[in-house]
Amino acid sequence: MKVTVIGAGPAGSTAALFLAEAGVETELVDKCRFPRHKPCAGGLFNPLLYYRDFPYLEDVEGVYIHEVRFRCGRHAAAYSSKKPLMKTLLRSDLDHFLLKKALQAGARFSLAEASPPESGTRSLHANRREGEVFIDAAGARRAQDYPRCGICLVHDFKTDEGTGAAQVHYGFMGIMGYCWLYPKRGYANIGVGAYMPQKNVREVYRTYVEYLFSEGLVSIAKKDLRNMPHRAKILPFAPRAHFVSGGSLLAGDSAGFVNPSTGEGIYFAMLSGKFAAKTVIEKRPLAWYEAQCRRAFKTHLAPLRFGNNRALLNRVLERAVGMSAQDERFKKMFAENFFRLGSHNLSGRFLRNLVSRVGL
Ligand SMILES: Cc1cc2nc3c(=O)[nH]c(=O)nc-3n(C[C@H](O)[C@H](O)[C@H](O)COP(=O)(O)OP(=O)(O)OC[C@H]3O[C@@H](n4cnc5c(N)ncnc54)[C@H](O)[C@@H]3O)c2cc1C
Repeated sequence: MKVTVIGAGPAGSTAALFLAEAGVETELVDKCRFPRHKPCAGGLFNPLLYYRDFPYLEDVEGVYIHEVRFRCGRHAAAYSSKKPLMKTLLRSDLDHFLLKKALQAGARFSLAEASPPESGTRSLHANRREGEVFIDAAGARRAQDYPRCGICLVHDFKTDEGTGAAQVHYGFMGIMGYCWLYPKRGYANIGVGAYMPQKNVREVYRTYVEYLFSEGLVSIAKKDLRNMPHRAKILPFAPRAHFVSGGSLLAGDSAGFVNPSTGEGIYFAMLSGKFAAKTVIEKRPLAWYEAQCRRAFKTHLAPLRFGNNRALLNRVLERAVGMSAQDERFKKMFAENFFRLGSHNLSGRFLRNLVSRVGL
């Protein structure tokens, strides 16, 4: 049997690694030459969780973040933890590292723009009989392919600093989402992510970078302030109805596996790549792949259920940050939810419970 994996991001390279290790003939196709740039904050939330499932990730160079400052409206709260909250890295390093692992295991790489088999023309079962299977790990498609999407802008600004606290600023300029500053080695990663529709995302971004600069929260050269990213990226904020399309298994962003509260997607991409490989290797039914993904991701990818009520969401978050400033236990829970450190997660259910906790 031959497997073609389209896209060599975290989902595709992980699928290719597991397939090649199992002795399956695997071809990994990407339209970009590696190492390649990928717009991303590059945060592995709860790195210990990543190492549990993918221990080799410990070898990727990065910075461990132990402190975060949350801000919303007039409230601010700082939280620090002995356990790392996050490991930040450059996506060009991570993705190149993962691709090299897949190649070392025996996968082949082709530089080409590929299209997965068209929906309805072939089925995965038919492909299996013909001895050819496709895994579509080509990243996020068009916004209309997902029930809900976010819009993001991000840039790695060069800086001499690179360690210190992460900043998470909810509802900046009234957006339904958050702006962030994640320190990296030699860079300050600054971004904004908001639910669509969000009209003035470039203006929000520029204002946030200038705010960080003027408050002395980031040290970047003034000339670099002109290096604002121009193209916003879409990020799926809800999984598609099915994780199998025509002749291919969908993994990672292509399936819509991104946490709608935080935008985290690397972990879900890698895990779904692993599940896709197992489905092929163990000749499992497609329903098995769907069930594995739903079970593993269910709570993390649950919708916020705030609809488009950004005013309510931001009021809830403002109260939550305010309570965090006063109550150590609440702050720990709130911060650990964000970074998926504890048993809770910042899912729609958690936020709905917050509404009653903060008494709105
Ligand atoms: C601004 C921003 C910030 C983010 N921050 C974080 C974060 O801090 N932590 C986190 O966990 N997640 C974050 N994410 C989400 C994360 O980037 C994605 O969930 C993750 O990259 C998904 O991996 P993937 O392998 O599915 O897709 P991708 O990483 O997008 O890889 C897809 C690959 O497919 C290739 N490709 C596309 N089309 C074709 C084609 N037709 N033929 C051949 N090759 C093709 C592309 O070149 C690419 O290499 C962020 C996303 C954005 C936009």
